[in-house]
Amino acid sequence: MLDRRHVLIGGLCLCCLPAVSRAASFALREIAPGIHVRRGVDEEASRGNADAIANAGFIIGGESVLVFDPGGSLADGAQLRAAIRALTDLPIRHVVMSHAHPDHIFGAGAFLDDKPAFVGHARLGPALAARGEYYRERLEAVLGPGAAGPVVMPTVEVKETLEFDLGGRMVRLTAHPLAHTDNDLTLLDGASGTLFCGDLLFVGRVPALDGSVLGWLQVLDALKAAQGATQAVPGHGPERVDWPAGAADLERYLRTLVLETRVAVRDNIGIEAAVARVGAGERGRWTLFEDYHGRNVTQVYKELEWE
Ligand SMILES: [Zn+2]
Repeated sequence: MLDRRHVLIGGLCLCCLPAVSRAASFALREIAPGIHVRRGVDEEASRGNADAIANAGFIIGGESVLVFDPGGSLADGAQLRAAIRALTDLPIRHVVMSHAHPDHIFGAGAFLDDKPAFVGHARLGPALAARGEYYRERLEAVLGPGAAGPVVMPTVEVKETLEFDLGGRMVRLTAHPLAHTDNDLTLLDGASGTLFCGDLLFVGRVPALDGSVLGWLQVLDALKAAQGATQAVPGHGPERVDWPAGAADLERYLRTLVLETRVAVRDNIGIEAAVARVGAGERGRWTLFEDYHGRNVTQVYKELEWE
């Protein structure tokens, strides 16, 4: 059923959840039988939103539950876990962390007692070893002391691909080369044709580049060709989009950055002028554009400068 339902979370211990979202309800949408997604808000992290700004979802199989991105903070993860428990008592055996960015992973701490496999790209561990504590401190500066949650390291690495059986339901994980980051992981649920993209797919909210624009375009081509995928869950944006049609805006944005930055490099106008000029036609098409676009252009300029 493709219905939207609100799961009311009872018994929240507010003293243990200092940054709990103001809303006591947690909106889930069932985008395919047994697949539920919570849409992140198109905002920067704040006390008010408990860093619930990225999409988080889970798949209920015949024997177990798999979480794909456990939320952006301990409180967000606790709400996600409570939403799962409102629907099923099956054990939560896998918590997949799509990549190292804080809004996708800091809810993992809420699942420690379930003792799941914490699954990540083979480069997720090194990324969190290098930056996890920094991310945690920065998030606590916004949410308040103790509110971020611990840095949870992956216990299962995906080097290329890996399959899990959730009980009559197979899912396939794929580790990608440098794109949005150097540790992007996607998941395909074969039964429903649903592709969880993490931040390899942004819809509506301006993309953030922390890897390689050329690599991202290549990975996007591979994802668009993914066998059997008919819908996708973006890292940011609606709970689902048709696939591969839902990649069109992201692809246009990234290609525009490449084309216009190459012109800026050729004309030797310098990074500051490039930031003002490149991708100006994309302004007004994305939320949070002013917060990320300039950084993206700077990064693309540095990547393409020496081509
Ligand atoms: Zn990200």
